[in-house]
Amino acid sequence: MQISEWINNTIKPEENKKYLKKGQNFINAEKLHEALTNNIGPSKPEIRTIIDKAKSIKALTIDETAKLLHVTDIDLWDEINAAALDIKHKVYDNRIVFFAPLYCSNLCVNNCAYCGFRSENKDEKRRILTTDEVKKETKYVLNNGHKRMIMVYGEHPKSDVDYMIKTIKAVYSVEEKTPKTGRPTSIRRVNINAAPMSVADLKKLKECGIGTYQVFQETYHEATYRKVHPQNTLKGDYDWRLYALHRAQEAGIDDVAIGALFGLYDWRFEVLGLVAHAADLEKHFGVGPHTVSVPRLTPAIGSQLSTQSKYIVNDEDFKKLVAVLRLALPYPGLIITAREQPEIKREVIKLGCTQTDASTKIGIGAYQECVDDETKSYEQFTIGDPRSLDEIIKEVAEMGMISSFCTAGYRCGRTGEKIMGMLKHCVEGKFCKLNAVLTFREYLDDYASPGTKAIGEKLIEEEIGQIKNQEFFMKNNGKIFNDFMRNYELIKGGARDIYI
Ligand code: SAM
Ligand code: SF4
Repeated sequence: MQISEWINNTIKPEENKKYLKKGQNFINAEKLHEALTNNIGPSKPEIRTIIDKAKSIKALTIDETAKLLHVTDIDLWDEINAAALDIKHKVYDNRIVFFAPLYCSNLCVNNCAYCGFRSENKDEKRRILTTDEVKKETKYVLNNGHKRMIMVYGEHPKSDVDYMIKTIKAVYSVEEKTPKTGRPTSIRRVNINAAPMSVADLKKLKECGIGTYQVFQETYHEATYRKVHPQNTLKGDYDWRLYALHRAQEAGIDDVAIGALFGLYDWRFEVLGLVAHAADLEKHFGVGPHTVSVPRLTPAIGSQLSTQSKYIVNDEDFKKLVAVLRLALPYPGLIITAREQPEIKREVIKLGCTQTDASTKIGIGAYQECVDDETKSYEQFTIGDPRSLDEIIKEVAEMGMISSFCTAGYRCGRTGEKIMGMLKHCVEGKFCKLNAVLTFREYLDDYASPGTKAIGEKLIEEEIGQIKNQEFFMKNNGKIFNDFMRNYELIKGGARDIYI
């Protein structure tokens, strides 16, 4: 098929129609701007009432979120930040989930002004991985200690849904031996970040066993969206992208992930856009997004906008937006990526982030090739945190947080509505704590450096002590605790991939 024919057949506007209200999408820019102007200068009591509501694990309204975004008082920010961590602990406990990205192709028919992969960037060397190359990349990722992967694709007929399925199956097929104990290991959950698709294509993806489907809206401000995504490209269609995850839900993919690329437009507006997006998904499907990502614009080769946008978000505002999102949307996981520098990562982890990537390489084929100038030019943007998984795990453990590679929820059918129900009742976090400890045990034995292992052992001991002291785990003569300890001992003895 010709590229132009493929482009013409991709967007199916009729698939969005049922979600529009009187022909309008759910982002009413005028109303969001009004919410921002009407809620300037909130009083202390108003903010404290909103903080209390958030701490009772209730999603906030647009107006409540807008008020938080306008807080200027430093003491109130301290209270907001403390509440953010408190909410994370209630819903997700003290764990951080790790994943690795795998960039499969930088062929792209779009021309997004901020991205190194855009079609007009002639400096970019184009490359698409074969399934054998994908398998090799996967071995490297496994050798770093990962169990979860997010596969990333440019939008192009050569990386269409059939290519995605081939590459996802290739990842799942790889089995490696762990470096320290020689136990078999494989990627247990593949998520994808890819362009919007039709319901039929999304059904195919669901069948091949993906975990989460992630699409960032980039900017919720339609006028800006149109400026940065040329209108003669596929990505230029704002509504096709805005409803990508509604269509995914319709296709049976019930873990969907949203995000905004901070730096394209006013960050406060984008936060309200994310809150409105989560609410619309919840309205139609009874379940909001599984995760929210907060990528911040970083320099990309051949993109002036990536360094000169007038909306670039500074570190202080970035921390504020993370904390406010944690309060406004208490259930979704909150993802911070290697785009950020280690110092910022550390700080936002304390504000309620639940997931991050590590030992990240975003060049096409970059895990197996040494990163020299040649391979660097395959990167979509620059990353701020190239540290190894082991280094980050050690740091997180020093902060008292347990690293998790758990993929049990997805494999036990704890997804979509089911997982949201459990998160809302603060139950999922409890199971996750147990599985986090089990997978952390695996990591410490199979991969950890001596320094990481020493601090990890101490942390695990404390965790087991805490688990033992929680009534939830000790009900029915301590059934859950006993099951957990049995699994823990089995893993210590060499068993792998067992979970609660
Ligand atoms: N091509 C697919 C799409 O656009 O949906 C896959 C996504 S792209 C490979 C992954 C994400 O990287 C984009 O959605 C965008 O938010 C982000 N991104 C692109 N350029 C960036 C930059 N200069 N800095 C930070 N993130 C960027
Ligand atoms: Fe292509 Fe995605 Fe980059 Fe846009 S953001 S140019 S669609 S890879």
